[in-house]
Amino acid sequence: MTDDPRRRIPRTDILLADPRLSEAHRMFGADAVKQAVRDAQQRARAGQLNPDDVLPAALAALPAAPTLLRRVINATGVVLHTNLGRAPLSAAAVEAVTAAAGYVDIEYDVATGTRARRGRTALAALRAAVPDAGDVHVVNNGAAAIVLVATALAARREIVVARSEMVEIGDGFRLHELLTSTGARLREVGATNRVHLRDYADAVGAQTGFILKVHPSNFRIEGFTSTVGVTELAGLPVPVVADIGSGLLRPEPLLPDEPDAATWLREGATVVTASGDKLLGGPQAGLLFGGRTVIETLRRHPLARALRVDKLTLAALEATLRRPVTPTASALHADERGLRERAGKLAARLVASGIMATVTPSDGVVGGGSAPGLRLPGWAVRLSPGLAEPLRHGVPCVVGRIHDGYFLLDLRCVPPVEDNAVAEAVERACS
Ligand SMILES: *Cc1c(COP(=O)(O)O)cnc(C)c1O
Repeated sequence: MTDDPRRRIPRTDILLADPRLSEAHRMFGADAVKQAVRDAQQRARAGQLNPDDVLPAALAALPAAPTLLRRVINATGVVLHTNLGRAPLSAAAVEAVTAAAGYVDIEYDVATGTRARRGRTALAALRAAVPDAGDVHVVNNGAAAIVLVATALAARREIVVARSEMVEIGDGFRLHELLTSTGARLREVGATNRVHLRDYADAVGAQTGFILKVHPSNFRIEGFTSTVGVTELAGLPVPVVADIGSGLLRPEPLLPDEPDAATWLREGATVVTASGDKLLGGPQAGLLFGGRTVIETLRRHPLARALRVDKLTLAALEATLRRPVTPTASALHADERGLRERAGKLAARLVASGIMATVTPSDGVVGGGSAPGLRLPGWAVRLSPGLAEPLRHGVPCVVGRIHDGYFLLDLRCVPPVEDNAVAEAVERACS
């Protein structure tokens, strides 16, 4: 058998010397490339692969993308979709993250060649955005901000909180369990639907670390209800920690029921905590605003080191603050007429391609546990529900939502430059 094709399987050293593989070698390292070559040779020996295809097969087996994360076009109409990574970063933030990926002066003063306060440029931007705060601090996320405050100000002491504000954030995480995990004790006051200033006043004493005011961001209690505002709570002789969650730094007219950091600080909150990747439209982060002394206490607490954010987060946060036109803001403010026009164009193109598509009113929502009950009026393209699955499996992956037995593509959170990519994805899914 002199013409046994297996004799033509190229040798490992010859394959590894091929320039196409040396390129791969630089990206994937020697081990992964050798393994891919060996696997391809093995398949050729087993007769499953033509010996001439060993090298292309080895190359194809190496991962094309550096991660297995898949880019998703969010056509759900949910602006802050927790399962899709909450706020998408702005172009400025992406640029800042890329720039910060190498060596940067994150904790270094280039003028003097000595150590400097970590993330000082991001912190300065955050202070400038909320002048009512004497100082600011940044940790890993909103939950970390609450844990840090509870540990630093109320360990082995009591946190006074209204029963109506004991929120479950999502994925089974509950604020009261988070708080007690720090060693603080909870002193719940009021009834489920109503709490009064005297409930707080009666509970406050020598054991009190602080009063916690939580914005019940992801639910609403309606009917016979009452809560106590920060202004009144601030009259009691203990600190008031206010968790706004949503990350609004200033009032947002579109969201009148969402509290903001500036207002609650002005009303007398000692510390305000918020998330970076909700309405602020930045990276995942926990933002802490307060007077200089209390922020210094938080910053100096040993736990602060365990909760600190990396340079990429600080870079993205700073860029988000300095150039606040974010995809989140654009999606939130997308006007109804514009959405109708884009949906109309998309539907018309699909119909021209022989696909059943109509335009239908579609309410977007803020999501991410913010502004429950608020509808953002808009329009969507209505398609056959059978398209949901192939669109999820496509590249790019397009996620819409099922409503009334139809599959809706809501363009609110789709940047207009991607409308074409959505149309192509639907056409591919139908072909
Ligand atoms: C979202 C939220 C949190 C948790 O913030 P993360 O950044 O998700 O950790 C805490 N409290 C409130 C009121 C929230 O809305």
